[in-house]
Amino acid sequence: MSLIVQKYGGTSVADVERIRYVARRVTACRQRGDDLVVVVSAMAGETNRLLALARDVAADPDRRESDVLVSTGEQVTTALLAMALTHGGCPALSLLGHQVRIATDSAFGKARIRSIDDGRIRAALAAGRVVVVAGFQGVDDDDNITTLGRGGSDTSAVALAAALRADSCEIYTDVDGVYTSDPRICPQARKLDRISYDEMLELASLGAKVLQIRSVEFAKRYAVPVHVRSSFTDTPGTWVVEEEASMEDILVSGVTSDRDEAKITLLRVPDQPGLAGRIFGPIADANIVVDMIIQNASAEGTTDLTFTVPKADFRQAMGLVERLAREIGAAGVRTDESVAKVSIVGLGMRSHAGVAAKMFRTLADVGINIQMIATSEIKTSVVVDAKFVELAVRVLHDAFIGGAAST
Ligand code: ADP
Ligand code: ASP
Ligand code: MG
Repeated sequence: MSLIVQKYGGTSVADVERIRYVARRVTACRQRGDDLVVVVSAMAGETNRLLALARDVAADPDRRESDVLVSTGEQVTTALLAMALTHGGCPALSLLGHQVRIATDSAFGKARIRSIDDGRIRAALAAGRVVVVAGFQGVDDDDNITTLGRGGSDTSAVALAAALRADSCEIYTDVDGVYTSDPRICPQARKLDRISYDEMLELASLGAKVLQIRSVEFAKRYAVPVHVRSSFTDTPGTWVVEEEASMEDILVSGVTSDRDEAKITLLRVPDQPGLAGRIFGPIADANIVVDMIIQNASAEGTTDLTFTVPKADFRQAMGLVERLAREIGAAGVRTDESVAKVSIVGLGMRSHAGVAAKMFRTLADVGINIQMIATSEIKTSVVVDAKFVELAVRVLHDAFIGGAAST
């Protein structure tokens, strides 16, 4: 008998019909003899609807209250699925984040899981029940409700699988696996059978929202095999697993894009030791993750410093940057919110030269200007004008991965 954690995303629980369908699927698995913990997201669109309500009552809603609000989406689906299961003859118990005790820090809206108490879940499993856990939510040391950031139910599921030492974690979504690129942007994209944790980590952090990045961090750290698959079919999906020898042969396994960042440039910053620390220190203290950074040295003892931050943190970052610019005597601040990051990811990049050069040439051939560049062992990213993002993804996919070959 195995213990499996299954997670059903928003489209899989979008309405009552689909919740009944998920209940039938879960019941069938249960009848095969497995113990099941099922994590659910809110109904598709519900989290956005709740966030819009918050903005209707306050321009910059209080983050604690915002978490109280958005966590209700998952409360609804958790209860409905548990009811549907029990009604269909499969005894189930719903548990919210604080009832399990999914303990997090207090970073409202982007909290990190610190520990999970498995006692109540194990007791319910031992009593023969399926346990339905609300995704996306936790509780901090002061019993405040927290949420884990958009797409956070993936992380709830994988963290639960790690805490319970589950045999696998199945992520049911509206695509049948992880593709070489977002199939909505790139029709040529094809499904991968297997992908390493490290590549998936890069793909997720570079815009492939099929898995939340922290879920992949947990999977890697605790060696949880993750199976991304469709809730609408029975075809096998993509296994996210430890690296295997043959994976290095593939130069580029994915092309991603991300429009969720904005670019900030501090103009003519005095070129002195310690200034970068003075600028990025307060931004880090505000829990804002700076992504790409470039510094252009100038002849007159000043430099332009350009970096990107998540759009969600842009207003807060600008508040800090404008104050810092005055303090350090920069000439001004320029911003650009219509940028996009396009990246290629692959283990093979470790051992092959010339991949970045080919990427730049491919973009130049279609007249796309590169504004910023960042590389790591297994990825190269560029920032381009947002209006070129889809074209960039398609030409790079063509150049490195090609058309619809079989996997
Ligand atoms: P869920 O609500 O089930 O969590 P998401 O919308 O969060 O689903 O994630 C699934 C979506 O991720 C897909 O519909 C697809 O458009 C998008 N996606 C982006 N990049 C990829 C990729 N490389 N492979 C598969 N899906 C991707
Ligand atoms: N409902 C949350 C969101 O829309 C969490 C999730 O779906 O994973 O971001
Ligand atoms: Mg998701």
